[in-house]
Amino acid sequence: CIAALSLGLFAGCGKKQEATTEAPADGKKEIVIGFSMDTLKEERWQKDRDILMARAQEKGVKILIQAANGDDNKQIAQAENMISQGVDVLMVAPHNAEVAATIVESAHAEGIPVLSYDRLIKNADVDLYVSFDNEKVGNLQGEYVTKMNPKGNYVYIGGAPTDNNAHLFKKGAMDVLKPFIDNGDINLVYEQMSKDWQPSEAQKHMENALTANKNKVDVVICANDGTAGGAISALAEQQLSGKVPVTGQDAELAACQRIVEGQQVMTVYKPIPKLAETALDLAIKMAKKEEVKTNSTVANGKIDVLSYLLEPVVVDKDNMMDTIIKDGYHPFEEVYKNIP
Ligand code: BGC
Repeated sequence: CIAALSLGLFAGCGKKQEATTEAPADGKKEIVIGFSMDTLKEERWQKDRDILMARAQEKGVKILIQAANGDDNKQIAQAENMISQGVDVLMVAPHNAEVAATIVESAHAEGIPVLSYDRLIKNADVDLYVSFDNEKVGNLQGEYVTKMNPKGNYVYIGGAPTDNNAHLFKKGAMDVLKPFIDNGDINLVYEQMSKDWQPSEAQKHMENALTANKNKVDVVICANDGTAGGAISALAEQQLSGKVPVTGQDAELAACQRIVEGQQVMTVYKPIPKLAETALDLAIKMAKKEEVKTNSTVANGKIDVLSYLLEPVVVDKDNMMDTIIKDGYHPFEEVYKNIP
């Protein structure tokens, strides 16, 4: 479905402050976009930041970026600071999907539209959501391992319960596993989420799963590459690394190395340049009150949020060259550095 939304009609209708930047030479007010980030911890978020900055420069707009290190109060304070600086559009990658609804209210009170970036803000009048198809991420993980290993003991190690994406990834994977679980081929012997996506949490979960099942684990679905790294450390302690298939997501350099070296079977590659550039271009349209094309809607508990979703891609040993290397996402010499 292609929905078009007229961004002249934002819910927020309060008075709008002028940006505190100097007007460019042509007299038009410079567009200022704010970006409130949860974290820069995972490698991907550093890419998001760098690409957004480069794209903003290319498009001649100003971007203000702040990261909150997983601290909800800090994220709210940083977002409010950007709102008071009079940004034209506020992009938010929330740490906590529910708590961030406050940010949407504050922005709307000043007539500033909000673009939910990668992660959806729940229970709020979000103006636009730009992300990947996150249920599909989970589908791809589930499909990959059920093809490899359609029977046996499965472990699911998910992401942060405060991140809506973590629930979508899990749902996507579970939808694929369900028929196998129902007919008894797959035994889901352990499932846990990992606070703040911490690899150390994932490692603990994996240790617990191994202990509880006397090391009889056939597949580990990890929601992202960070948690996969933690799980693989726990498997390595039991000399099981490389023997039990582990999934991931993000195509982090370390994960791509593990894939070509055989400790991880796949990752889900989400080309960050596409996400960052699409989001910034749409944010500029929003700032100019131009029409924004969307290709989906995603329910956030309050409304069906108009969304632009991009396609995730499976990466394994066999297509590493045709995806990650071909796109220049990581250099060949880095990914294959331990391969003789
Ligand atoms: C993102 C993933 C990322 C995770 C941890 C999710 O919301 O979609 O790409 O690995 O957060 O930061």
